[in-house]
Amino acid sequence: MKNYVTLLLNWFLENRRELPWRKDINPYHVWISEVMLQQTKIDKVIHYYNNFIQEIPDIKSLSEISDDKLLKLWEGLGYYSRARNLKKAAIMIMNNFHGEFPDNYDSILSLPGIGEYTAGAIASICFQLPEVSVDGNTMRVFCRLYNLDLDISSLQVRKTIASKLRNILPEKSGDFNQAIMELGETICLPNGIPKCSKCPLCYCCQAHVNQNETLIPRKSTRGEKLEEEYTIFLLKYKNKYALHKRQTNLLKNMWEFPNETGFFTYDEIKEKFKDSVYIEMGPTNTHIFSHQKWFMNSYFIEVKKKIDGYVWATIEEINLNYAIPTAFMPFFDYIKTK
Ligand code: SF4
Repeated sequence: MKNYVTLLLNWFLENRRELPWRKDINPYHVWISEVMLQQTKIDKVIHYYNNFIQEIPDIKSLSEISDDKLLKLWEGLGYYSRARNLKKAAIMIMNNFHGEFPDNYDSILSLPGIGEYTAGAIASICFQLPEVSVDGNTMRVFCRLYNLDLDISSLQVRKTIASKLRNILPEKSGDFNQAIMELGETICLPNGIPKCSKCPLCYCCQAHVNQNETLIPRKSTRGEKLEEEYTIFLLKYKNKYALHKRQTNLLKNMWEFPNETGFFTYDEIKEKFKDSVYIEMGPTNTHIFSHQKWFMNSYFIEVKKKIDGYVWATIEEINLNYAIPTAFMPFFDYIKTK
C-alpha cells in the first residue's frame, strides 16, 4: 500500500497541473476553486475563477457583494446555490471567525455549502490536517486499485472508502488528496478507457491486472431524472425583452425569460398573446440538471405594449446586470440575433 502512495506522490510532484489557485496556499482561493469544481470541469472553471477573484478578491468583499453581481459572476456555471452559500459563509466568517478562514476541520465543515469533501480538501491542502477528501475521481481510482465492484453513488461506499483512505493517508495529506483526484481527472478516466499505459500505478492496480478497468466501478443505480416540458416566451417590446426573477428553489433569484410548463402550439400562442404584432417559433433546448431534465420550446413574440409583472431590459442591460441560467442561454443567444 505504502508503495503506491509513494508512487502517486512522486507522480503528482512531477505532473501536477499549474492552476491559478495553486499559485499560493490561500484558503480563500482554494475554497472558491473547490466550490466551483464541485459540479464543473477544470477547463471551464479557470476562466470563472480568475474573473471571480479579480472582482471579489477576499472574504470581506464576498460578504458585501450584491446578490445580483454575485449571480452575474456565476452565470453559466450552474448550481447557483453554490454562489449564494459562498456569500452566506463569507458573512459567517466575518461574524464568527474575525474575518479569518477557520483552520480546523469542524469549523470549516460548519460553513454553509461546505460538505465533507470540500472541508477535507481545504483542511488538508491549506492546513496540512490529516483529512481525506473523497470525490467521484477518488472513489473510481480507489475501486480500480483494489478491483472493488462497488456502486460509488452509494453513501455507504463513500464512507467505507473514506475510512480506508484515512488509514493510508501520508503526512502530505493535501498532496495525496490532490494527487488521487488529479490521476482520476487526467489518466484514470471515468468514461471510455483509462490510460493505464501512462499510469504510475499500473503495476499495482488490481483492476488493470485483472483487465477489469472498464467494468469498475459499477454503473450507478440511481433513479431516472424527472422530465419536464416548458415553452419560453421571448417577449420583445421595442428594443427590450421581458425578464422574470425565479422564486422556486431551483435557480432561485436567477433571471429567466417568461415561460410556462407544457408545449404550446402556434395557435395557442396567438390566442395567449392577442396584443402581439409578430410571432415566430424560436430555438429549442434540452437542459439536464442533477435530478431533472427540461425540454424547452420557444416563441419570439413582439408585443404592442409592455406586459405588467416583468422587468424589461435591452440586450446590453441583460449582458451587464442580469444573471441568466445556462438552461436559458440558447434563447438569450437567439434574441441577440434579432
Ligand atoms: S492502472 Fe488504469 S485502472 Fe488502474 S489506476 Fe491506473 S489508470 Fe486507473
